[in-house]
Amino acid sequence: MAHTRSFFADRVVLTDPATQRLQLQPGCLEVNGATISFAQAMTRDEWKSRCDEQPETQALDLGDVLVTPAFINAHTHLAMVVFRGLDAGAAMARNVVEDLYFTVESQLSNEDVRAFARLGAFENLLHGVGTVWEHYYGGTALADALVDAGLTGVVAPTLQDVAGPGVNALDSQWDATLAIHESEAYAQSGVLAAWGPHATDTVSNELWQRIGRAANEHNLPVHVHVAQSIEEYTFSMETHNLSPVARLQHLDVLEQSPHSLLVHGIYINQDDFAHLKSGRQTLGFCPYSQAQYAFPANVLRWTEADIPWLVATDCAACNDSMNVQKEMRFVHGMRVTGSTWAPEYQTFFASGKLSDATRLQEHRTRSFHATERFANPEFLLSLVWSNPGRMHPAMKVGHLQADYLANFVIWDPMHPSMWPSMDPLRLLALSDTTPAIQGMMVNGQWIGERGDFARSVRESDAYQDALQEANERLTALQKRL
Ligand SMILES: [Zn+2]
Repeated sequence: MAHTRSFFADRVVLTDPATQRLQLQPGCLEVNGATISFAQAMTRDEWKSRCDEQPETQALDLGDVLVTPAFINAHTHLAMVVFRGLDAGAAMARNVVEDLYFTVESQLSNEDVRAFARLGAFENLLHGVGTVWEHYYGGTALADALVDAGLTGVVAPTLQDVAGPGVNALDSQWDATLAIHESEAYAQSGVLAAWGPHATDTVSNELWQRIGRAANEHNLPVHVHVAQSIEEYTFSMETHNLSPVARLQHLDVLEQSPHSLLVHGIYINQDDFAHLKSGRQTLGFCPYSQAQYAFPANVLRWTEADIPWLVATDCAACNDSMNVQKEMRFVHGMRVTGSTWAPEYQTFFASGKLSDATRLQEHRTRSFHATERFANPEFLLSLVWSNPGRMHPAMKVGHLQADYLANFVIWDPMHPSMWPSMDPLRLLALSDTTPAIQGMMVNGQWIGERGDFARSVRESDAYQDALQEANERLTALQKRL
């Protein structure tokens, strides 16, 4: 039987079981195997007596640090780190997914995907992400990459039968989804499956209905790009006379799936909201990615309609980092950027009149007040903790509570990026604090060395070997192209 490990810290972000509100207090976490067995606010003296009563427990006083749930990055394509910084040139002005990536992606072997995805997994860990929702070609190679790096996640091998580089691999990706789902070894490593239809315009009605039935039968969520581009919306309206969301409703996918993660939602209209109200749908917002592919979705409308949503990074190719903190900060920034592009600005710019400047400022003030929630740290952190944490029926993450996976980050509040740490939750939501990560536990295992986190991960044999293989495979890929 695994020994219980008991940790105490002066600042632990716990969840009040009654209200589900976050509490920042001195507290104790006990870990048994991969899961938290006990989490409660208490004083150091209370913790010491508790440990004395349980001599089998390994006790560790972490001191004056901040302990929080690890972040969840619930929409990634990890292997696409290989496209980071690629000059997409003219393709970026049109639909870069179809024009450029599909060409390169058809050249990737499963071994390439595993090697590149492994580097993406390490990058997530270094940014305090303990769980990803991964969606890509490569089947079980994606799950293997997560296990290699020690990252937990929900893997959705990409399914498509109408268009895209995965059309010929539909059967193998379907089988890989079930293989991940049925594997005890992956489950022990904190890696579970979801169904991963690519997008509404690359999946036929027949395949959608098959996915809906399978989601119900295996109790597995669906993770899909929805309403992400004008091409997709055009296809949906012209071919089916339904919006992408209305089509999923019509095909019974939203009803059958235990949970649906619908990513991007740029072209979601107000009638679509009626189909997203059951509590079993979550919208995914990847603002930096959307700013490159299309434009940021209107999350104020989602918030007003009480539709649950989350932030995620999408791929490094369109985003350049796996740090979810900057996605939260973008949400905060959306409070007032509307005024930059408003007609009130144009009017003022043309006239220079004081009355027009005043009207522009009134526009800014209205936006500022309408988006008050976007400045609330607890709301912003729910986009990377509780909201993505509730999407998989078999994975509990996003809270420090009993029965949840032991995925937590230890932050040094005296690091320059966090000092003076008077409101740590606000810092986590609105600053770049990942250099202050002192230690991290994922699935009950330490990542790197506590007290020397980033350097120890980068200098580990696991990372150095992963880097060497990725470099070799990138060179070979460039030769093939
Ligand atoms: Zn994506």
